[in-house]
Amino acid sequence: MFINGERAWARAGTTMEAIDPATAEVFATVAQADKADVDAALASARAAFTGGWDGLPPVRRVRVLNRLASLLRERTREFAQLESLDVGKPLRQAEDDVGAAAGYFEFFAGVADKVFGSSIPLGAGFVDFTLREPLGVSAQIIPWNYPLRLASRGIAPALACGNAVVAKPAAEAGLSVIRLAELAVEAGLPPGVFNVVTGGRETGAALAAHPGINHITFTGSVPTGIAIMKAAADNVVPVTLELGGKSANIVFADADLDRAAASARTTLMQNSAQTCTAPTRLLVEEAAHDRFVELLAPRIASIRLGRGLDNPDMGPVVSDRQMQRVLGYIAAGAKDGATALTGGRRSDAPQLAQGYFIEPTLLDRVMRGTALEQEEIFGPVLTLTTFRSTDEAIAIANGTPYGLVTGIWTRDLSKALTVATAVKSGQVRVNSYSVEGSIGLPFGGYKRSGFGREQGLEALANYTQLKNVMINFG
Ligand code: NAD
Repeated sequence: MFINGERAWARAGTTMEAIDPATAEVFATVAQADKADVDAALASARAAFTGGWDGLPPVRRVRVLNRLASLLRERTREFAQLESLDVGKPLRQAEDDVGAAAGYFEFFAGVADKVFGSSIPLGAGFVDFTLREPLGVSAQIIPWNYPLRLASRGIAPALACGNAVVAKPAAEAGLSVIRLAELAVEAGLPPGVFNVVTGGRETGAALAAHPGINHITFTGSVPTGIAIMKAAADNVVPVTLELGGKSANIVFADADLDRAAASARTTLMQNSAQTCTAPTRLLVEEAAHDRFVELLAPRIASIRLGRGLDNPDMGPVVSDRQMQRVLGYIAAGAKDGATALTGGRRSDAPQLAQGYFIEPTLLDRVMRGTALEQEEIFGPVLTLTTFRSTDEAIAIANGTPYGLVTGIWTRDLSKALTVATAVKSGQVRVNSYSVEGSIGLPFGGYKRSGFGREQGLEALANYTQLKNVMINFG
């Protein structure tokens, strides 16, 4: 763990193992924190917050956050290797994650001294203005799929606004978050401003229910999000919930099908589609079905599996549990009539036998309303369903409990806007699923995908509270 500027073991001596998902071998031992450790981390954060971080001139926060971003960029290889070992993702993707993490610190360094209030006219003899003040200690509960990137997404704005942080990464993958906290101290962050407690569900629950926190940012699954919101209710603290997704990728017959297919391949390879935004639910206009499948299936079949550190196209999934879960969805889909055009099994390549490798999978003719079509699979599986009209595409896209992102592929602007305004999702991406500079775009869910917005200037609302000051000087 990392408490008050130093590495720490759990007071009770409890530990857990870090497992390389490519080999199923243990490669590190990590502290498993209990309530006493959470108490210590929160005491450290509170002392650092009230002891100076809160009142520091914001320009100094700008400098620290920029320095942290530079250090991260300098150590890209080290962080990428750690993350690749811990989660299994290809080194190139892990390097992109380090770049994105640095990008969060750069973006929020840029706004740390621009957290403006406003002035409100009340007539002669009065002035009225608002102050945006930090909340205090922000608890950050992080999932395993993008530990460094998602930690940075919440911690950068929290620190920029003058809060202290206690972060709890997932039990499956927390090493890069500990290193990030160490690097922050090297960058000049006062000890205690950013602490890390490691552990699983119990550690997270102890943090979420602690009366010493002032805010929670949670990224993870819907059931955990619900538990965290209930815990937050008891302490009346605000929560930002970034939950799961089942994003539709709508391909109209008039689209550049080749580009749409290339993008679908990339998004499947990205972290083995263990990505909340992964557009794994392909909705293809019936007239374009055969041509699109011709373009896509060979591309999916060509994805090269391997150990993350060897820089393949795609790595394993994170754990045995996750692998069994994904294979279970594929088996259920087969019973419901879906056809595997490629993949559909655990990899039987001898060099991958020990790891948690699933062949990249494209399932065609997936029935609406089945588990495969409705639930977040979180593994390298694309499902394909067809539609015959724009209205039907919108109905299918909106037909799950989630609402994170919608992808649209068409050359018809009016069709794109019709769908973009009708879908219930926090982001819509037309004719490209990724863009450089996306950190500036507000991100978050509709429906069960959560609420609150991370990224962009909108994120500042999560990490500040507004005070109104009215003065009668007449
Ligand atoms: P998870 O909900 O199982 O765990 C997330 C974190 O919460 C972990 O740190 C875990 O230890 C902790 N936790 C578990 N139970 C807890 C409890 N009762 N109280 C407090 N903390 C608890 O999720 P996961 O399997 O690690 O991550 C995958 C999920 O995260 C997927 O559903 C995915 O879509 C979602 N996700 C969402 C986003 C987004 O920005 N919307 C980004 C990435 C992942």
